[in-house]
Amino acid sequence: MKLLIAIVQDKDASRLSNDFIENDIRATRLSTTGGFLKSGNTTFMIGIDEERIDEVLSLIRESSHTRQQFMTPPVNLDAQLDSTSSYPIEVQVGGATVFVVPVEQFHQSSGEIMSKEAIERIITKQPKLAQHFMTVIGENELTHAYLFVGESGSGQVALAELIAMRLFCHNVDDTGMPCGVCYECQRIQTQEHPDVVEVKPDGQSIKVDQVRFLKSEFSKSAVEGNQKVFIVADAEKMTTSAANSLLKFIEEPTGNTIAILTTSNRSLILPTILSRTQIVEFPKLSLTQLRESAIESGIAKSTVNLAMAITNDIEQMKQFSENDWLAQVQVAVGKWFSKLTQRDDMAVIQIATDIMPLAQDKASQQVILDAMTAIWHETLNQHFQLKTAEQSAFPQQKAIIDKARLAINQRQLISIIQDCLETRREFLGNIGFQSIVESLTLKILSQLA
Ligand SMILES: [Zn+2]
Repeated sequence: MKLLIAIVQDKDASRLSNDFIENDIRATRLSTTGGFLKSGNTTFMIGIDEERIDEVLSLIRESSHTRQQFMTPPVNLDAQLDSTSSYPIEVQVGGATVFVVPVEQFHQSSGEIMSKEAIERIITKQPKLAQHFMTVIGENELTHAYLFVGESGSGQVALAELIAMRLFCHNVDDTGMPCGVCYECQRIQTQEHPDVVEVKPDGQSIKVDQVRFLKSEFSKSAVEGNQKVFIVADAEKMTTSAANSLLKFIEEPTGNTIAILTTSNRSLILPTILSRTQIVEFPKLSLTQLRESAIESGIAKSTVNLAMAITNDIEQMKQFSENDWLAQVQVAVGKWFSKLTQRDDMAVIQIATDIMPLAQDKASQQVILDAMTAIWHETLNQHFQLKTAEQSAFPQQKAIIDKARLAINQRQLISIIQDCLETRREFLGNIGFQSIVESLTLKILSQLA
């Protein structure tokens, strides 16, 4: 393994960079100033196996051979490099200066394996859509603007990236899938690809600045005529002015560009955008897929089923899970349930001491009510043995739920769940949270009396 440090003139840098990419040579590009070539220059650092050194040198020579400003005498490139040398060698290649330095150690993270996995993940998550788009690209029938609609976590951005990889990949396989491991595929996944521009909401909204950035990237592409892909994640979060500026591009596509917008809520997208994009509906994930996606995005295994009992939206699950809030709800509701199953009046007091501190706003109150309903549902499901241990929303309460299942009959459980659902309706009608859950608790106590 050698490290090549190649200093070339700025004029040659872009072409050389493309040549490297085409030949699958990984180069780190630095913008430098210096005396070697007496003008603005670019330095490439290339880690490469010894047998490929000549190949790299000839690429550099080809793209820099027109320059005539030599600082040091040119070296005959046909001369063999001494590969066993442990000292830097200076080689002059046309208008470039190249150092070949021995590398003592070389470490690389396991990015390659990860990126193959990422491709497989999206293919298993949305197999039909993935295959559909690969075929569409193969037949050259991609249109210029898409809106991907689906619940968060159903893989919209991942599919958009897969499409980008397919457009840029050098090693598309027999099934029409990108390789996931070439330089292009990797840069797309790490969001470092200059021609794949991704915009995500900055906080709660996509600001006009972010769209302005897209705009300038769009117009550059028109000049160069390059393939470009724009991905706007959570497009419903665009401010109206941001959406309006984006609209102009969608109306007048420039050059070889495609825009992919994603949303989990189609009804929040401007109708003008809806009418000008091709809408792709993402099928719902199966429960197993949803659980996997949720865990992947950081939801704890111990609370993931409870989160899924409350919402299908992974972004919402993430919000509930912040600062372990959902885990605390799980514990508090578990305690409340435990007291109730012992017919203990303290369950009413427990609303004020344990539940209310967690019920800061309407949204969190609703989640708590849903969790209260879920624990009774789970007990009823245990009666029918409908769910496995892995599907439990309250795994820590397993012993108590098992006991309750034996002590409380089906009819009682069904009435309790009806009370919970009735309370939820009252809650939406703007009645104070504490008083309605206290009266729910009293109702349940009387059901069990
Ligand atoms: Zn590739």
